[in-house]
Amino acid sequence: MIIVMKPGSSKKELDHVIKTVEEMGLKTVLLHGTERDVIACLGDKRDIAQDFWNAVPGVEKAVPILAPYKMASREVRPTPSQIQISPEFALGGKTVGVIAGPCAVENKAQLLSIAKSVKEAGAVGFRGSAFKPRSSPYSFQGREEEGLKYLAETRDEVGLPVVTEVLSPEHVEMVANYADILQIGTRNMGNFVLLKAVGEQPKPVILKRGMSATLDEFLLAAEYILSSGNNNVILCERGIRTFENHTRFTLSLSAVPQLKKLTHLPVIVDPSHGTGKRDLVNPMSKGAVAVGADGLLIEVHMDPEKAFVDGAQTLTTDDFSTLMKELKPVAEAVGRDI
Ligand code: PEP
Ligand code: MN
Repeated sequence: MIIVMKPGSSKKELDHVIKTVEEMGLKTVLLHGTERDVIACLGDKRDIAQDFWNAVPGVEKAVPILAPYKMASREVRPTPSQIQISPEFALGGKTVGVIAGPCAVENKAQLLSIAKSVKEAGAVGFRGSAFKPRSSPYSFQGREEEGLKYLAETRDEVGLPVVTEVLSPEHVEMVANYADILQIGTRNMGNFVLLKAVGEQPKPVILKRGMSATLDEFLLAAEYILSSGNNNVILCERGIRTFENHTRFTLSLSAVPQLKKLTHLPVIVDPSHGTGKRDLVNPMSKGAVAVGADGLLIEVHMDPEKAFVDGAQTLTTDDFSTLMKELKPVAEAVGRDI
């Protein structure tokens, strides 16, 4: 349920409503609007009768939220949220934001070279993981804290905010100390302890869709982060498992406009993991922008053949620059910039 306060209602009336809701065993989240305040009431209890709220001073109306996800829903916040990923850039506005970089942090020189080049091409963020969730325990597992230090140094030298994956709740604080944006990978979308842990810190979170998750499950995973206190959630469609085996996953581009109808959160697309094929990254990036994605997450390496991880789906720095130029008219055709 949301409780909409009357324009000009007093602080005392607002505090009284919050106290009353909390005494009913529900959690409250205050959403400050330009004209009026809205209180989202979260919890397992059935909604309290609307008549009750009509009589409470300062309250305009109480409205039930029908979606199972509450804070992620457009019913609570009808206008798109913009999430500041750096002092210069917010995802979710008119400009499509491209975040690019290698799959894995290999060494400092690699990060610097790729970061400079993707920045030059117009990227607004730099990606690279120091903790790698690998299918095989024998594969490269990442540079861990040393890799996080390289990422932070790269951010300081190049001036792009850095995105990196966090794999476990015990690492959230350490990763957040170095990174600007935390990533929850597809394999951890349903790790509710980890979702709560990233929800209890303030840095933006890129939440990737579980490879077998429905959109409702995806939005409920986002709800774990939002209801733990962090409003800065960016959803990422990265492909789902289907019977098709020509691509690594099936990139569900229809998820983008569907999610944008259901939620106010920004939606970005990862065509690298979504296809697993370098030559499909360019067309699927254009498709993603055309269907309304707020951003892209793309793997780039100066020498993809030698990349430690995911070389087959990784663009060269030259291919990335070409893609950025080719995305411009596509973005403009749908009323966006890039
Ligand atoms: C990644 O972006 O580095 C990654 C491992 O992606 P996903 O979790 O989507 O497989
Ligand atoms: Mn990868």
